[in-house]
Amino acid sequence: MVKTVSLQKVPANALQKRKAELARSIQTPAEFLRGSFVKQYLTCGKKNCRCQRGFKHGPFFYLVQCVGTGKVRKFLLKTAEQRKQARAGIAAHLKLQRRLVELSEINTEILRRGVS
Ligand SMILES: [Zn+2]
Repeated sequence: MVKTVSLQKVPANALQKRKAELARSIQTPAEFLRGSFVKQYLTCGKKNCRCQRGFKHGPFFYLVQCVGTGKVRKFLLKTAEQRKQARAGIAAHLKLQRRLVELSEINTEILRRGVS
């Protein structure tokens, strides 16, 4: 959940100005990717492996996506290029999401005041 701030004391003209800025800047980036970038170190299960003594394998990088209630899809990012693409896509998603939440908050405040 994106953190929101109270807009109750923001002047109406400032809300309208920010609303217009957001509306202009909101666009879906082509690299848009919903998910999390996860770094993990793992143990393999072989009895005498070094990982059993604390020297775990990795790091491994994954794209993790929620695909429904309690269901996740985990995708191993094998190459540096895949990791770069995943990071850029996730950043684009978060940026868009923050703008959408802010615009919704502004519209909620405008609605609450009963002005347009
Ligand atoms: Zn191992």
